[in-house]
Amino acid sequence: MNFIKITVAGSGVLGYQIAFQTAFHGFNVTVYDINDEVLERAKAKFNSLSDAFKADLNASQEQLEATKSRLSYNSNLAEAVKDADLLIEAVPENPTIKIDFYQKLAKVAPEKTIFATNSSTLLPSQFADETGRPEKFVALHFANEIWKHNTAEIMGHPGTATPVFDAVVAFAKEIGMVALPLYKEQPGYIVNSLLVPLLTAATHLLVKGVSDVETIDKTWMVATGAPVGPFGILDVVGITTAYNINKMAADATQDPTKIKTVAMLKELYIDKGKLGVATGEGFYKYPNPAYKEKDFLK
Ligand code: NAD
Repeated sequence: MNFIKITVAGSGVLGYQIAFQTAFHGFNVTVYDINDEVLERAKAKFNSLSDAFKADLNASQEQLEATKSRLSYNSNLAEAVKDADLLIEAVPENPTIKIDFYQKLAKVAPEKTIFATNSSTLLPSQFADETGRPEKFVALHFANEIWKHNTAEIMGHPGTATPVFDAVVAFAKEIGMVALPLYKEQPGYIVNSLLVPLLTAATHLLVKGVSDVETIDKTWMVATGAPVGPFGILDVVGITTAYNINKMAADATQDPTKIKTVAMLKELYIDKGKLGVATGEGFYKYPNPAYKEKDFLK
C-alpha cells in the first residue's frame, strides 16, 4: 500500500500542522475545511509555520516553497477527497461533529481511501461503523507542534485490517514521525495514559496543601532527571485543557479533591487570564520561567 495523495480534514491547530508536515515530506496534500474563509485563515498560517520549521529544523527557503506548492485547499468534501489514498481527520473533538463528518465522507470517498482520526480522547471503535469501511479505519494521533514533538501513535480498533495498520505506521515514518504502534485500543493512547495521571497527582498535591508548585516540580526534576516538572508541563498543555479534563472527572465522580482542583484552576488561573505559556503566565511567568533558572534545582 503506497500513499501518494493525502487529504487532511480540518485545518485548525493540529490539522494545519499535519498538512504542512506531510507536504514538507514530499506528499501532495489537499486541505479540507467547512468553508473558504476558514481555509484562507489556514493559508495565512503558512508563514508562521515556515518560521518554526526554519528555526527548529533548519528548513531551507527552497524546501518551504516546495512545501507550499504541494498544498492545495478545497471546501468541497467530494472534490477534496476524490483521489485520496489517505484522509487524516482533525475536525473538532466533538462526537456529533465527527459522526456527521464520517457519514458525509463515507458517501463521497473512493473505495481505496484509508481514514485516520487524530482524535485525542475518542476511540476509533466509536466511529468505525460510521466510516462505512471499518477495516480501513485507524487512529493516527499527533502531538501539538508535531515537527518538534514528533510522536505518531497508531491505534486500530478490533476491525482494522493489519495491512492498513502497517501502511499507516510506514506513512508516519515517511513524514518524519517516530511511529508508536499500539496493539489494543487504549483511551489516552500511551502518552496521555502516562501524562494525565502525573499532572492530576501534581494538582492534587497542591490543592491538598501537601506542597507548593515549585517544590513539586523540583522533586520530579531532581528525582527523575526530567527537564521540566508537572506544573511546567501544565503551562505548555494549557490550563484550560487541564480544567476541562478535571471538570469532566469531577462531574463524573463528585470527588472532593477533584472539585477543589477545578475551583482552584478557575479562580486562580482561568479567571485571571493565566492560561499558561500561550498567555505569558500560568503556574510560571514566561518567557523565562523560574524552573529554567540555574539555581532552581538547588
Ligand atoms: P481546532 O478546533 O483547532 O480545529 C478544528 C477544525 O475543524 C477547524 O478548522 C474547523 O473549522 C474544522 N471543522 C469543523 N467542523 C468541520 C467539519 N464538519 N468538517 C471539516 N472540518 C470541520 O481543533 P484541533 O485542536 O486542531 O483538534 C482537532 C483534532 O485533533 C481533535 O480530534 C483533537 O482531539 C485532535 N488533537 C488536538 C491536539 C491539540 O493540541 N490541539 C493534539 C492532538 C490531537
